[in-house]
Amino acid sequence: MGSMLDWNEPVDSFIDAMKKSGPRRAWFMTDPESGEYRTSHPAFDGVAGRIAGDERDYHAHEGSFFEIGKESGYLLSAHIHKTVRGQAAGGVRFWTYDTIESFIRDGLRLSRGMGHKNALAGLWWGGGKGVIARRRNGSESELRKHVYRDYGRFMSGLCGCYITAEDAGTRPEDMANVYRTTRYTTCIPSEFGGSGNPSILTARGVVVAMEAALEALGMGTLEGKTIAMQGLGNVSYYMVGYLRERRVRRIVGADIDADAVARVRADYAGGEFDWREVNAGDNSIFEEACDVLAPNAVGATLNAATIPEIRAALVCGAANNQLEDPARDARAMQERGILYVPDFLANRMGIVNCANEQYGVFDGDAAIESHLDRARPTGIWRRCIEVFERAKRSGRTPAEEAEALAEELSDEAHPIWGHRGRIIIGHLVTAGWAEG
Ligand code: NAD
Repeated sequence: MGSMLDWNEPVDSFIDAMKKSGPRRAWFMTDPESGEYRTSHPAFDGVAGRIAGDERDYHAHEGSFFEIGKESGYLLSAHIHKTVRGQAAGGVRFWTYDTIESFIRDGLRLSRGMGHKNALAGLWWGGGKGVIARRRNGSESELRKHVYRDYGRFMSGLCGCYITAEDAGTRPEDMANVYRTTRYTTCIPSEFGGSGNPSILTARGVVVAMEAALEALGMGTLEGKTIAMQGLGNVSYYMVGYLRERRVRRIVGADIDADAVARVRADYAGGEFDWREVNAGDNSIFEEACDVLAPNAVGATLNAATIPEIRAALVCGAANNQLEDPARDARAMQERGILYVPDFLANRMGIVNCANEQYGVFDGDAAIESHLDRARPTGIWRRCIEVFERAKRSGRTPAEEAEALAEELSDEAHPIWGHRGRIIIGHLVTAGWAEG
């Protein structure tokens, strides 16, 4: 296969190239001295060249690491954008990818996004993300424990330059398996001393962001407002409760999963609720006349097709990477007079909940609760207001301003450890990690 490997090939070609290269590991990294993009094996030069020439998702990432799991044979990866603020931190996604390109792009994009989220939240963590290529086979449930034990071993081998956590496709029991084989993880189940379900706090955080944005728009509080939400999963379920406490007038929600709809229908009755089961691809919830639209399902739902239909003054939700094309879609909403709260500004509480669980976990912890406090300078409320004011002054979109602020903050060095992640990556490369 050699340097013929290209990134429009299936993920299995990447696995084959790794096996043919000898070891079960590979890395790509930006050389800190020369700024050049390098890879561990010539077989990946073609893919590395494509990444280095990319202006969309590659932003001089410090490193990407790949390993074939010993027990599972699955392709495991960890992407590290920047570790100036601390070790790279972000969850591990378990997802199906058609091509090497989509597999690597997701890791590059999500790791940078995590760095932005961590920096805006004032956490001393850098930006990282794990991605495991899910295979299309029917026997996954038994295999999962091997996949995640492999992932933990992979983390241990990376010596702590990246700390993993839960993300889409990964479940609490999977995190327990990761924890069996590494200490480099957060978001472990509460029976092991972890922080447990983050969705309750995420819902509370997004509601605070909605309140800040409504005030910035001069629309008052949530009381009497109509909210439309896409997705009625974990975050939405709790969000409905908090919105009801704030005496919203009406909530309309849509989900493709009958069980999710049934759960809200059973637990939230008696108010002005409209719960709808929809088909995949049915985006009619975006056309709902409302004050606030909350995209709480999956990414890329705000795009050229949906934005022209929106009938809300404010878009603020929990889903990650809501904009299909960040610059284009944020601008399109601004031009339509819609205030869009960048997802990484609103949905930080999931990572806040678990990021520092090694320092102790208890109910009502002020270190966590204060992120919801309007007085805290780095809290959700004040950060939202800061970003909206910057956008008003510059004419740029809140998404652009939030990203610029996050970039500034992600260059602040960790007060104790400095840029140690880079040193660990350098050690892995010189110690021959890829040959191990
Ligand atoms: P979840 O999987 O429990 O809920 C998502 C729901 O969206 C599911 O019920 C699913 O059926 C539904 N859905 C998927 N596609 C849909 C579509 N096209 N139309 C309507 N419904 C659709 O996930 P969650 O934990 O509630 O998280 C929601 C979003 O917020 C995700 O994007 C997640 O990555 C993000 N997020 C979650 C947290 C957290 O703490 N849980 C933290 C940060 C970000």
